[in-house]
Amino acid sequence: MRILKTHSNRRGHKSFSNKASLIVLVALLGLFALDRAATAIEPANPPADVVIINGKVVTLDAQNRVLDGVALKDGRIVAVGSANEMQTWVGPKTEVIKLKGQSVLPGFIESHCHAVGVARGALEQTYVEISSIAEMQNWIREQAKDLPVGRWIEVPRNEITRLKERRFPTPSELDAACTSHPVLYNSVSNKYVLNALGFERLGLSKPDSKIDGGEVLRDESGKPMLIRGGATTIRSQMPTRPTFSNDEVRETLAKLLRRYNEVGITSIFERATDPQSLAFFRELRSRDRLTTRVTGTFRFGAKTADAVEKYVNSLGLKPEEGDDWIKAGPLKITVDGGIHWGTTRLSEPYGPKRIAFYRLTDPEYRGEQYYSVAEMQAVFETATKLGWQMSVHVTGDEGTLRVLEAVAKAAESQPSIRSRRFTLIHSYFPSPEIVKQCRDLGVGVDTQGYLYFKDADTLAEIYGPQWAERFLGLGDWVRGGVPVGLNADHMIGLDPNHSMNSFNPLLMISIAVTRKTINGHVYGEHQKLSRLDAIRTVTQWPAWLSFDEKKLGSLEPGKLADVVILDRDILSCPENEIAQTKVRRTIVGGKTVFDATSAQP
Ligand SMILES: [Zn+2]
Repeated sequence: MRILKTHSNRRGHKSFSNKASLIVLVALLGLFALDRAATAIEPANPPADVVIINGKVVTLDAQNRVLDGVALKDGRIVAVGSANEMQTWVGPKTEVIKLKGQSVLPGFIESHCHAVGVARGALEQTYVEISSIAEMQNWIREQAKDLPVGRWIEVPRNEITRLKERRFPTPSELDAACTSHPVLYNSVSNKYVLNALGFERLGLSKPDSKIDGGEVLRDESGKPMLIRGGATTIRSQMPTRPTFSNDEVRETLAKLLRRYNEVGITSIFERATDPQSLAFFRELRSRDRLTTRVTGTFRFGAKTADAVEKYVNSLGLKPEEGDDWIKAGPLKITVDGGIHWGTTRLSEPYGPKRIAFYRLTDPEYRGEQYYSVAEMQAVFETATKLGWQMSVHVTGDEGTLRVLEAVAKAAESQPSIRSRRFTLIHSYFPSPEIVKQCRDLGVGVDTQGYLYFKDADTLAEIYGPQWAERFLGLGDWVRGGVPVGLNADHMIGLDPNHSMNSFNPLLMISIAVTRKTINGHVYGEHQKLSRLDAIRTVTQWPAWLSFDEKKLGSLEPGKLADVVILDRDILSCPENEIAQTKVRRTIVGGKTVFDATSAQP
C-alpha cells in the first residue's frame, strides 16, 4: 500500500493541477483499488531476490516455528511465514523456489575444521578411508604397482580404533602386501609400523640397533615390530615432502569450500590457524570466490602471561576483528592428547587393556597433561584481560576437570570470563560435575559426531561400556544447558562421508538422533537428541560459540541469508533415512553456492 500511495502522489505532483488532477487522481486510485481486489498477490513489500514457498522452514526461533516459506533480499532474511505472506514479497525479478514439503534449514556451521591443512594434504596424497588390515594391504599393493621400486609408501592416516582388527598391523602383514618398496604405517600417536624393507632402510633390522629419539619394540627373536617416538629420525630417512605454491593451495581450498557447500555448510571455524593461513580466505574473497564464512581460531603454546601477551601482539589482530565473512575467533591451547593415541587424560589408570591396545607400558598411566592448572590459569586470565575468547583442546574427563578448575580460578580475578563463551574442544567424557561447572562458568563445547560413529565400538571394548555411554555425551550436555557444536574436526580428505573426519552435517544430525555407531550399536540411549536439538548442534549452538547468534543459526528476519534446502522433510522422515538426506540447494548471503540440479555428478 505504501508503494501505491507514493507512486500516485508523485505522479499527481508532477503532471496534474487543480480540478483535473483531482478527478484523474480519484479515478486512478479507484483503478488501483480494483486491481488489488482482483489479484490480491501484488507485492506489498519491496520484491525479494529469492522466495522459498511450500517448504517446511525450520526457523529455530523462540517458538520453534516450522513455517511454509522464507524471503531473502540483499543478503538477509526479510520474512518468514505462510505461503500467502511470502507472495507479498514476490516481484517480477524474484526467483521463486517452490518446494513440496522439503525442509529448509539455517545454513550449517562446521564448528571445527582445518580447511587449509586439508587443501595442502589433498595436494600431497589422495586420502582413502581404510577399515581393515586387508583393505590396507590392498591399498599398498595398488600403490606398489604405480611407484618405482624402492620408493617409500606411506599409508594414509587411519587410526587403529577404526580398523576391524582394532590393533596395529604387524610387519609381516605389511610384507605380505609389499616387499619391493619400504612401507610405513603411521598412527599419528607417534607409533610406527614398517615392513621389513622399511626397518632395513632405517637401519633397525639388527636386534641391537637403536633409533634416535625413539624406541624399537621387538619380538622374542629380536625382530623389530613397532617404533615408539623417533619421528624426526624417521622423517629424515623419507623423501622430502613436495611443496606447493600458494596459488595451488588457494585453488584446492576453493574446491574444498565447494565440497562443504555441497553438504550445506555455509560457515566454518578454522580451528588452528594463523594470520598467514587466513590470507588464503581473504584472497578467495577478493576474487569473489569465498563460499563459506570463516572464523579463525589461533593456536599457540604459550604458558605464561608474558608469552600470551607476546603471542597476541604478534597476531596483529584485535579480538573479533573482521566482518560477516572472515573474522578472528578465539585463542586455543592444547592441554591433553587423544583417544586414538592413548594420550587422553583420564580420571583412572589406563589399566592392562588400554595399555596393551595403545602399546604403552605402565598400567598406572593416566594420559598426558601438557599444562599445569597454574599455567592454564595464567593463560586464561591474560587472554581474558586482553579481550580474547579462549578455547582448549582437552579430550579426557580428568583433563576437562583441571581446565574447568583453572577457568574457575581465572574467573576470580577476571569475572568477565563467564561471558566470554570459553569453549572446550572435544571433552569426550562429560560427568554431572563437568556439566554443572560448564553451566556455572558459561562454557560451551565443540565435539565430534563421527568419532562416536567410528570409534565407540572399539572404546566400548577397550574402555568398557560405561565409558562408551558417556562418550560425546550429547544428551548430558544439552540437558545440562551447555551449548554444543557438533562437527567433523575435518583434517584430511575431500569426501564428505569418508574423510578424516566425515564433514557431512546430515550424518552428524543422524548420529545425534539415533546414537548408532557404524556397526549399529547404541551406547547410552539417554544421550540421544531430539531432531530439533540435533539440528541446533550444527546451526544455532555453534553460532553462539562464535558470538554470531544474532546474525546466524536460525531463520529469522534480519539475519544473514544462509539457507539450506534439503531433499526431504528431515523432521518427519524415518529416522534411518536422516543420514541419506541430500542437500538440494545451499545459499550463502542470499547467493546460491550449490544447486544439486545443476551440479556435475
Ligand atoms: Zn582439530
